[in-house]
Amino acid sequence: MNLSYWELKNWFTNVDYTVVGSGIVGLHTALRLRERFPQSKILVLEKGMLPEGASTKNAGFACFGSLSEIIDDLKSHSEEEVIQLIQKRWQGLQLLRKNLGDQAIDFKPYGGYELFLKEDESTYNECLQKMPFINDILKPLFKTEVFEKNVDRFGFGNIQEYTIFNPFEAQIDTGNMMQALLKEVHAQNILILNNQTVNGFHDGPNGVEISVNDYGFTTQKLLFATNGFAGELTKHAVKPARAQVLITEPIPNLDIKGTFHLDKGYYYFRNIGDRILFGGGRNLDFEGETTTEFGQTQRIQNKLEELLSTVILPNQEYTIAHRWSGIMGLGSHKKPIVEQLSENVYCGVRLGGMGVAIGSLIGQELADLV
Ligand SMILES: Cc1cc2nc3c(=O)[nH]c(=O)nc-3n(C[C@H](O)[C@H](O)[C@H](O)COP(=O)(O)OP(=O)(O)OC[C@H]3O[C@@H](n4cnc5c(N)ncnc54)[C@H](O)[C@@H]3O)c2cc1C
Repeated sequence: MNLSYWELKNWFTNVDYTVVGSGIVGLHTALRLRERFPQSKILVLEKGMLPEGASTKNAGFACFGSLSEIIDDLKSHSEEEVIQLIQKRWQGLQLLRKNLGDQAIDFKPYGGYELFLKEDESTYNECLQKMPFINDILKPLFKTEVFEKNVDRFGFGNIQEYTIFNPFEAQIDTGNMMQALLKEVHAQNILILNNQTVNGFHDGPNGVEISVNDYGFTTQKLLFATNGFAGELTKHAVKPARAQVLITEPIPNLDIKGTFHLDKGYYYFRNIGDRILFGGGRNLDFEGETTTEFGQTQRIQNKLEELLSTVILPNQEYTIAHRWSGIMGLGSHKKPIVEQLSENVYCGVRLGGMGVAIGSLIGQELADLV
């Protein structure tokens, strides 16, 4: 690397904290480190041109779990774990709003809905039956009933009579949120370097030697916020999980407002102004979607288009404007991993499908491990 004396001096010498990953978690980690250590040199390394995992690719649901997801989680996690997770997501959302402001993230408290397909009678009945119990266990947190039964007023097709409404759910503008975060990070004198892939590290007596692209430098502390890409470097069991999304062109007189969950959260859609964003379908090919490669597959895109025309917009003309994908980090447990890996190395990874909510808090927790 042809680095000058100046470049070495200003960017790569006496580095106190290096954060890997500039998603929601990495940027919140860096901001929290700045709060705790006002004089320190903080560097964020990001492999993408932009943050390039999930934080700039997501659907912008400010949510903490649909009724069927919570019921499902209770089958593999204890009641206490599930409530704790919901509490953290809820606290994380409040922290995000407080840090950036509702205007900056275009926070819209339209509420969220869960829909059940006609053929999914069993989940529908289970949800209606268990709703009072779930409302009971969430009452200490929200002080009122979270979920209520509503008759569909949006004219969706092929769904059960009732939807489940959650007034605490909202939407945000993901692009605005990430830009506001990046602006704040720059304002706090934190350096971000893009197109920098961390390939390895060695925690030694003088700090951590990091190898990046084709050069290396030493940092006192190293913090990984690499979510779905974390497996190899952190040796943690984090599985990448690709999620595919599409968005329509504006639809005249669109009367759908809110965030919507379908099929136990495997599908999700919302309006963005007068467009519909629609994603999901990983359950059609779990193995194929366990990848860090961006891209779309015909099988999942066909299913998204089928549901879009039969369930979401059965009586409307529309065209699809754009498609993309993002990479989430999943594991056997829904709880993110916030851990010290060695003397000077830490990680905050495996954010799952609700990192918009919990990401700010995990960033804070990661920085507080130092
Ligand atoms: C399509 C989609 C829809 C979603 N919808 C929602 C939603 O509506 N609501 C919600 O709450 N959550 C949603 N999520 C999940 C949410 O986006 C994530 O949980 C959250 O963004 C995770 O943030 P993060 O900072 O941990 O990870 P990321 O945003 O993935 O950031 C990790 C960063 O690390 C970088 N990186 C990785 N390895 C290296 C390396 N070796 N060197 C340098 N940099 C590296 C990556 O490029 C990436 O930018 C969705 C996710 C997807 C993909």
